[in-house]
Amino acid sequence: MKVPAIANKSFEELSKKPEFMVIVQFIIDKLSKIPFSMKRAKVIHQTIDEFNNEVFSHPLVKQFSPCKSGCSACCHTQVSVTRDEAELLVQRIADGVEINIDQLILQAQAGDDASDFYKLDYKERGCIFLDENGACKVYNDRPSVCRTNAVLGDASQCMTNDGHQQVRLVKTPQSDMVIYASFLYAQESGSLPTMVYKVLDQINNEVKES
Ligand code: SF4
Repeated sequence: MKVPAIANKSFEELSKKPEFMVIVQFIIDKLSKIPFSMKRAKVIHQTIDEFNNEVFSHPLVKQFSPCKSGCSACCHTQVSVTRDEAELLVQRIADGVEINIDQLILQAQAGDDASDFYKLDYKERGCIFLDENGACKVYNDRPSVCRTNAVLGDASQCMTNDGHQQVRLVKTPQSDMVIYASFLYAQESGSLPTMVYKVLDQINNEVKES
């Protein structure tokens, strides 16, 4: 289990509060009743969007958040996904979303360790789902972590050209607990490129064997 750092931090801060632990248990119970991986991922994304809406619709967040299509600074950081989310992303590739395979292999070779990922240069760290305008090609099915990345202030604080990120994220505690629960439930998780590569490789091997 590779729980995203921010969700993990929220869990450590909130795990003594019953109202937040109820969310974790609710999500695990809900996921256990859904037999299909992509459906599980979509349910998680929908739940996160509902919780986020309470936070992101606040007038101050709307006024002071610079997050919008075309600003892709946080898409050059390491994103963790569950196996369910990776399968959903691979389905989008199967549906016709184009990715740069060389970039996927390069990032997958960096593995799950953030320190290895940040050894890549800024351009090499760009998410495989970014288009040439800095927009997400899989926006509706983007991972949980991408859904909670919103900052207040100037977008330049998200830049990681020097390998360091100095963000002031908008707090999303309920969503963080949903993310924590989904990673706790997941049989497998890891960085987005590692997991997408793994799913694609398995499909490729299954096709060869059939
Ligand atoms: S999946 Fe989309 S939102 Fe998430 S890092 Fe990639 S391009 Fe950015």
